[in-house]
Amino acid sequence: MSVTFKQLRKDFPILSQSIDGNRLIYCDNAATTHKPQSVIDAVVECYTRYNSNIYRGIHTFAEKATQRYEDAREKVAHFINAHPQEIIFTSGTTDGINFVAQAWAKRHIGVGDNIVITELEHHANLLPWQRVAQETGATLRFIPVLPDGTLDVSHLDTIITESTKLVSVVHVSNAVGTHNDIGLIIKKARVVGARVLIDAAQSIAHQKIDVKKLDGDFLVFSGHKIMAPTGVGVLFIKKELHNDVEPYRVGGGMVQNAIMYDATWLNAPHKFEAGTPPIAQVIGLGAAIDYIKNNINFDDLCTYEASLCSQLIDGLSLIDRVKILGPIEELKKRGHLVSFLVEPYHSHDVAAFLNLRGIAVRAGHHCAQPFAAKLGYDASVRVSFFFYNTPEEVDFIIKAIQELVDLID
Ligand code: PLP
Repeated sequence: MSVTFKQLRKDFPILSQSIDGNRLIYCDNAATTHKPQSVIDAVVECYTRYNSNIYRGIHTFAEKATQRYEDAREKVAHFINAHPQEIIFTSGTTDGINFVAQAWAKRHIGVGDNIVITELEHHANLLPWQRVAQETGATLRFIPVLPDGTLDVSHLDTIITESTKLVSVVHVSNAVGTHNDIGLIIKKARVVGARVLIDAAQSIAHQKIDVKKLDGDFLVFSGHKIMAPTGVGVLFIKKELHNDVEPYRVGGGMVQNAIMYDATWLNAPHKFEAGTPPIAQVIGLGAAIDYIKNNINFDDLCTYEASLCSQLIDGLSLIDRVKILGPIEELKKRGHLVSFLVEPYHSHDVAAFLNLRGIAVRAGHHCAQPFAAKLGYDASVRVSFFFYNTPEEVDFIIKAIQELVDLID
């Protein structure tokens, strides 16, 4: 790469902000990422130069907006090695999983079947399946977690069985950063003919995603985790399943022919995108993907983020009272986040203390409450990185935690 990650910071206007006189150190990237100027410009340009609803209007702005929207679909498809028809725009990961739950699972899963997820899931990949199980009479099964936050895959054969219809699994955990061996899980699912959904919310911005190599049937992510605006997400549905998936919503924009008592649908992806979509946000997502393509090499990114994790883990390990959660050695090799406890403080108080120094982190169960309960904590502090974070910022965080601990020792 000709420019360093540090040089890319200038593309993010928000990073020059201060919090109560302290320079902002933003380490809440697992929750949402900041937007480079080019993404902000793309959204502003949409609203100031050609704002229009798409498809329906025979006028210049409508054509331009439609073109930009469909260009973004092509960019996303290329980015994850899919066909544009396999890219459905949603409002985010949560929306994409609910889509699959309602529009596919409820029609293909019933009494006697089971759905397999893991104990590591974000609520977005837990609650929709609880609901499907309750409504269809299917059973929900869990691949268990070990105390280090990795999956125990030693009994997969008894969990994923002939009656498994769907395996829905998080690629990278937002709670402790575990990288799941989804290759192994998908292989088991294929043996019994189960469909597979991959929650790529935490992997999409940090590693190369290739849907053909991964070989899932559905894959979901949120635009805002990869520098795009909020309000847009992507649901990949493998082409061969398009006839098995009903539209999640019905209405304008997806109809081939409507009569008083019935209607027929257009082909995918339009069949799955009823109503006015988030046009400017989708165009912003296209600009975010352009930004990645022009500036980021995923191998370099992975090495860089892992080095920040290593630095943080090594620094925190020297501080008594800090307990680091998750698979530490793995995080040092390919992590982008580190979760920890600072005893006896509650994690909310730790985050509030860091905020006094301009450091933005997240504290809580990170929408993975059953997982936190299983590991025996109710809330952790999570520091999550992106390429615009620096080693100096990590030093600053370690120093702040040491100061907090010194207050009691
Ligand atoms: N899954 C994972 C692993 C996540 O990290 C998140 C968000 O933090 C989600 C799902 C839900 O994403 P969204 O709230 O954008 O729908």
